[in-house]
Amino acid sequence: MPSTSNDPSRRQFIKGAGLVSAATALTACSSIAKPAASGSIVSAKKAKNMIFLIVDGMCLGTLALAHHWNLRHHKAPLNWMQLYGREGVTRAMQDTASASSPVTDSAAAASAWGGGERVNNGSINFSVEGNPLTPLFSYAKAAGKATGLVTTCTVTHATPAGFSANVKARGREKEIAQQYLQREIDVILGGGSKHFNYEAFKLDNVTQPAANLIPDFEAKGYQVVRDRQSLAAAKEQSKLLGLFSPGHIPFAIDRKNDPALKQVPSLPDMFSTALSSLSGAKDGFVLQVEGGRVDHAGHANDPATILHEQLEFDNCIPIALEFIEKHPDTLLIVTTDHGTGGCQLNGKGSAYVESGPALDAINDFKQSFEWLQERFKKSGRFSAKAFKQATGIEPHPEQADVIQKAIDEEVKYLSSTMTAIVQDDLFAKTAVGWTSNNHTSECVELFAFGPGSAEVPAFSENYKLNRVMRSALGLA
Ligand SMILES: [Zn+2]
Repeated sequence: MPSTSNDPSRRQFIKGAGLVSAATALTACSSIAKPAASGSIVSAKKAKNMIFLIVDGMCLGTLALAHHWNLRHHKAPLNWMQLYGREGVTRAMQDTASASSPVTDSAAAASAWGGGERVNNGSINFSVEGNPLTPLFSYAKAAGKATGLVTTCTVTHATPAGFSANVKARGREKEIAQQYLQREIDVILGGGSKHFNYEAFKLDNVTQPAANLIPDFEAKGYQVVRDRQSLAAAKEQSKLLGLFSPGHIPFAIDRKNDPALKQVPSLPDMFSTALSSLSGAKDGFVLQVEGGRVDHAGHANDPATILHEQLEFDNCIPIALEFIEKHPDTLLIVTTDHGTGGCQLNGKGSAYVESGPALDAINDFKQSFEWLQERFKKSGRFSAKAFKQATGIEPHPEQADVIQKAIDEEVKYLSSTMTAIVQDDLFAKTAVGWTSNNHTSECVELFAFGPGSAEVPAFSENYKLNRVMRSALGLA
């Protein structure tokens, strides 16, 4: 089982009690949307700090899938659901389009928030006319605030970069790493070490030299940490660079069930350390925290993986609520940038009575399809035994042959190729269906707490949030 009903890692924030285990929370919090008892969250006029919590690529169906799984296995609603109706919260519906499409990518969505304009998909803080936009973090730095980026993606990925970098093409992650160094982002935690220490490579047919930026960060006073232990031991209130994987941070389901990945920190681990590092900043801080891989599990149409990514992000919400309880001069925003995959738990069986048991069947999954992809690519061989151990699904010989052919042909996205090959089995087992492997145009939920939060329009285009945040933080 990837999780149990008494999972001690599951956290909730109970007013007056702070962060507690799920079991304790059950006795203290039995209903959705308990309002805060005091008005302290809205008492301060200007925001000294901001925490921007974003889950990348969350369809409402993904939220509902995780919610119903949690109700069934933990007898408690998601922390996200407890934001509804909370005193001092502004809830808004957000239109996520980009300049070039009703369906945004993460680069354009983050640029809308970070740079204040809709840009074309694929570009980061460059206007449609080709002019650089000043990212939010540059305003924050100019005002003396510390800045932080935390993500389960590469730290140079589109969403964190949208708050802090300018590149015409989102794939230029090595250039983004150099901009982080120049702009001295104070806390950087996530994956992507390969973009900080690399061999010579070709870009636009021009050879770019090898580089290792790590000593340059150290020379600027950064602590550099590479695993969960050194992250936990990091000195408080200091500049911090934590790179825990060459690429993206492995999925939560894989970190839970593969002992080789135990030293990779979780998103809540990284978020807590970032708060310790930044909270002493004299003039405050701006921190973006991204659960970046709900999006990737959505692209792969991988039901168990998307569930565990969403649950891990949800565990960041009580950490944020505890912080703003103690620091009411903090603006907190919780949202997503777009949907991915069109994920939905569907009615199954007569009168849909089998939909609940289908949620239990998701517990048969022990690893992500990405984890299987890496294993099969390495060996060059499909293994029906490994497939069954990871997914609980016994592949037919014909399916095994088609997957082996995909391995032989070195298809780029083997994980989504595999889920497509067994999609009927996946749907029969989990009742989770998908509209595509792509992003969606759906409008998304947004919550804002704290100083300035009341200025968020009830229905808002994504780029309008930039002005609200800058105004709340007193940034010109
Ligand atoms: Zn995506």
